[in-house]
Amino acid sequence: MQLLKDKILSQAEIVNAHVLKVDSFLNHQVDPKLMQAIGKELADHFRDKGITKVVTIETSGIAPAVFTALELGVDLVFARKGKSIVLNSNLYQIPVFSYTKEQEYSLVINRSFLNSDDTILFVDDFLANGQSLLAVNELIDYAGARMVGAGIVIEKSFEAGRARAEEIGIEVYSLARISKLYADTIEFEGE
Ligand code: 5GP
Repeated sequence: MQLLKDKILSQAEIVNAHVLKVDSFLNHQVDPKLMQAIGKELADHFRDKGITKVVTIETSGIAPAVFTALELGVDLVFARKGKSIVLNSNLYQIPVFSYTKEQEYSLVINRSFLNSDDTILFVDDFLANGQSLLAVNELIDYAGARMVGAGIVIEKSFEAGRARAEEIGIEVYSLARISKLYADTIEFEGE
């Protein structure tokens, strides 16, 4: 998606060889026109998959996910991040390791928002090693529902996330695929 790539090139900050900061349009301040275009693009790609719900993770996945859900005409559920795992029969929960914070936290979804007949599209801001995607997929499995695709805003294709998702049959569609991050350069896949 050229609009997104241009935005990344003009505004993203390279923190190190693994982490990109996109606070000016996605992770802190949000560009709603860009989010709307992202939502349309992701929805168009997955429109014929029978999606009944979009699932993301708070906080940074919500902006692109809400526009995707709006375009698909379905509800959005965002998994909440919690500190400790409190036993609660109303919740599906799973521990996950945070890529950027380098610590474990718990991901939680209320059972009443996932049904066994749901066909789910996962949307997230970044795909790196796929820990978040796999954790959300487990929560969806607990509910007896099915994740059929992952719509990603920025994929770091030098990490293992895509391979891990595809291994378990989840189609990954990313709007910008970064093949390399170094010094002051961002390289996109195929360019
Ligand atoms: P994964 O779970 O695929 O290893 O990492 C994806 C999650 O970590 C995303 O939900 C995102 O919040 C965060 N993340 C991974 N890489 C980056 C990055 O380069 N920049 C930012 N801002 N977040 C990232």
